[in-house]
Parts: sequence; structure tokens; C-alpha cells
Amino acid sequence: MKTGLFFGSFNPIHVGHLIIANYMLQFTEVEEVWFVVSPQNPFKIHDTLADEKHRLAMARLAVEDNEKLKASDVEFGLSKPSFTIHTLHHLKETYPDREFILIMGSDNLAGLHKWKGFEEIITGYELFVYHREGRDNQSLKARKNVRVFDAPVLNISATFIREVLQAKKSVRYLVPESVKAYIEENQLY
Ligand code: ATP
Repeated sequence: MKTGLFFGSFNPIHVGHLIIANYMLQFTEVEEVWFVVSPQNPFKIHDTLADEKHRLAMARLAVEDNEKLKASDVEFGLSKPSFTIHTLHHLKETYPDREFILIMGSDNLAGLHKWKGFEEIITGYELFVYHREGRDNQSLKARKNVRVFDAPVLNISATFIREVLQAKKSVRYLVPESVKAYIEENQLY
């Protein structure tokens, strides 16, 4: 089964992420998308980063009405800091019947060559890239395993969501209602 992996801190997950995941389900042969929530880095104190349990809970709430979307805490149990290549090895071993595909914005391509295990990632896995403003990498886009999609990208970020909340304004429509309620109940951000 072709499974798309969407890595991020999801602090919090927002509709921009959900739109991309659903686009991949609708327009590519990806059959499931997993949001892989990055764990807290114990060596980095980050005052705006909500606890990993909260970020996972919000991702779970965001996908609960879609059986093809999942939130994964796989990296919580792996060595830190998380390296994508380690996570991929672990997932491949745990789910031998699945074929994992990386989903990322074209802006992420700019620094990809510096990632641990870069050559193994780009030769061993397909990368489904959606066009996004920012720095890019044309030579990477030409690699055999890279496919670029023109998905609808909403110009919002988790940083913006946190700023809206800090300004005591509503994040209605920017995150699912369930996520909005969770943020309020737990007084996050
Ligand atoms: P922050 O503002 O806190 O950096 P973010 O909104 O960029 O957060 P991440 O959790 O870092 O969210 O995102 C995970 C992945 O989703 C990243 O690869 C990021 O490039 C991508 N992404 C973020 N916002 C959007 C968006 N509006 N549309 C499409 N992709 C997005």
C-alpha cells in the first residue's frame, strides 16, 4: 500500500497541511497519508513548541473523520534528534507491505542535500513535492524519484496560527473545529 509521509512539528496542525494531504489522496496513487509528528528535542528548549502529546492529540483530532489520514507518534520512541532516514528504516521494517513516499513542499528541497542519508532517501524513496514559494532546487526536481505537483497551497503557517491566538483572535477556519476546541481547553499558545 502506498503511504505518504508528511513530517512536521504540527504546532498546531492546520488546514494548509490537511489540504495537501487530501490533494495527495485524490490526485496521486497515495492511498494513505500519515502525519509524522516530530518529538520534543530534549536538548532544545523552545517556549512556543507545545508538548508532543498535545501536538499528537491535535493531529489525531484533525484526521479522525478521514480513515485515509493518520497521525503517527513513531518518532517519539526513536533516538533524538530525529533523522528522517532512521524513521524510514524503522517504518520499512515495521510495515514491510507498505511503500513509503515522502510528501514535502518544494521549499524543503533547498536543504535536502544536507540531510543525513540524503542519497539513500532520494534513490530509495519517491518524493512527492508540491509547489511552494521560497527557495527551490531545480536539479533535485529533475531526479527520477521526484514528482512535482501543483497542489492548492494556502499561505498560512503554524507560526501565523500561534500569532492569531496570542493576539486573542479566532483561528476559526484555519484549524478544524476540534483542534480549535482542544487548544482552548488546554490553553495552548
Ligand atoms: P511553523 O510555522 O511552526 O514553522 P508550519 O506551518 O510550517 O509551522 P510544520 O509543522 O513545520 O508547519 O509543517 C510540516 C510541513 O508542512 C513542512 O514541510 C511545511 O513546509 C509544510 N507546510 C506548512 N504550512 C503549509 C501550508 N500552508 N501549505 C502546505 N504546506 C505547508
